Amino acid sequence: DIGIDAGSAWFEIGAPDLPPLEPAGHKYSRGLVHCLAGQMPGAIALAANAAARSGAGYVRVSTSLPIDGLPSSIVQTGGADLQDERIGCILVGPGLGDVPQVLTLALTAPRPIVIDADAIGLVGEPERLQGHDTILTPHEGEFRKLFGESEGSKAERALEAARRSQSVIVYKGPDTLVASPVGSLAFAPPAPAWLATAGTGDVLSGMIAALRARGLGPFDAACAAVWLHGRAAEVAGSAMIADDLVEAIPLAIAEL
Ligand code: AMP
Ligand code: MG
Repeated sequence: DIGIDAGSAWFEIGAPDLPPLEPAGHKYSRGLVHCLAGQMPGAIALAANAAARSGAGYVRVSTSLPIDGLPSSIVQTGGADLQDERIGCILVGPGLGDVPQVLTLALTAPRPIVIDADAIGLVGEPERLQGHDTILTPHEGEFRKLFGESEGSKAERALEAARRSQSVIVYKGPDTLVASPVGSLAFAPPAPAWLATAGTGDVLSGMIAALRARGLGPFDAACAAVWLHGRAAEVAGSAMIADDLVEAIPLAIAEL
């Protein structure tokens, strides 16, 4: 019993159909992801790598601190020109710290946004996100911080959160589910318990941002990334760390 109306549409997430590559495409048409770094840039570096390995054509990170360990294809910039219409998705939150101005900046841009990690706690009221094209990726603690201690099953709480924020909610954990503001609900197939290690959430948010930038809608991008993230963890094996998960993304995609 998942505790929602029998009339609600719900399903288990299966292997995704990714958008076909255009033969005459270029790096922008394949999707530009713009990552906003914060006080602990290692986390956004992991997310940026995951975005690049998920088929984004171009990944940029705007940062005030130098970041180690980025492939040279990922461009670091000082300022963030978020009015650039080529941006397919903005990612904010991993390693952000307590810097609410960065979230506010992201919300001034009329672009799709993935809000993860520290940025979730900086939203304040969920209703603030209405009118934005937003995907939120909370774990249990982040969910409660933004949406409070609500009653009901995880599925009911996710649907209510999606309605209040008018955002797609990826409610993570051993039993990740994805809810949309119009009442769609999708359950992830069982994921390996070894995903419970530092940085795997940052990898997931980068994957979602890439698939959103590649042109999938917010609900489909979230579902596809959740499925590929679980599959990549299986491929990487039980002693993986988050960096290994990133390396396994192309293998998981190649199997499709
Ligand atoms: P975060 O909490 O942001 O570090 O993200 C952790 C990631 O690992 C999310 O994608 C979770 O869904 C996943 N995860 C955490 N614990 C488990 C578990 N016990 N089994 C399967 N997946 C998990
Ligand atoms: Mg996290």
